Amino acid sequence: MRDVIVAANWKMHTTPADAGDLARTIAGRTREAGVIRVICPPYVCLAPVAEAVADDDPPVAVGAQNIHHELAGAYTGEIAAPMLAGLATWVILGHSERRRDAGESDALIGRKLGRAVDAGLRPILCVGEQLEEREGGRATDVVDEQLAGALDGHDAAALAAAGLVIAYEPVWAIGTGRNARGADAAAMADAIRSSLEGRGWGSRAADVPVLYGGSVTSANIDEFLTEPGIDGALVGGASLKPDEMAGIVARAGLTARARSAQR
Ligand code: PEP
Repeated sequence: MRDVIVAANWKMHTTPADAGDLARTIAGRTREAGVIRVICPPYVCLAPVAEAVADDDPPVAVGAQNIHHELAGAYTGEIAAPMLAGLATWVILGHSERRRDAGESDALIGRKLGRAVDAGLRPILCVGEQLEEREGGRATDVVDEQLAGALDGHDAAALAAAGLVIAYEPVWAIGTGRNARGADAAAMADAIRSSLEGRGWGSRAADVPVLYGGSVTSANIDEFLTEPGIDGALVGGASLKPDEMAGIVARAGLTARARSAQR
């Protein structure tokens, strides 16, 4: 049975003065058995968020939004994976905003993935196509290439043991208010697992959680979580709103309960 996960990407929002309160409020309103909740605030807010949710039950995980591909060195302004010890246990990698703004390539993201696993961080690897690629019928090929570029060369068993999560985030749906259709996201989740299966993952591919991300709200989460191949959501804008998170995680709780009843 795959994990049901709702991960909050706070992007470049909140400050150390207010992040702890927001995290505490969200944690208090999203306690659902069987749902893994992850909050990914800016680096400077990791400590207050970790402190605010430390005693929550079920536990709330804290994640970073990025790491550097080297362990240490002359990289001004960067953060290496080992520096997150005690602050975060998850990390988002290859978000489309970093691919766009920091020019991150699939190969670079693959190096970060290795650093994440070595540091014991559970990675959420983001993939997704541009609008013209979807309209040109190339969405699946693009995502397959992203997976190949980031994953090839890594030991599938080690990535599986690290709990690799894939977030399918069509770029045209991120922050636009225009979400993908649930059926299209589910088809891509199938394609992602087939891609993994064909590149050395074998039957392990079926166990990899695939999240949908892109303008998820409490009003549209049902469309995604009714799809058996989708295991949760990576939520951006709506993750800063406690009411929205309460609705999204409540719906994820239904999926978690239904899955556990099927065991
Ligand atoms: C994201 O940041 O990964 C994201 C999906 O953003 P939004 O939910 O705002 O589209």
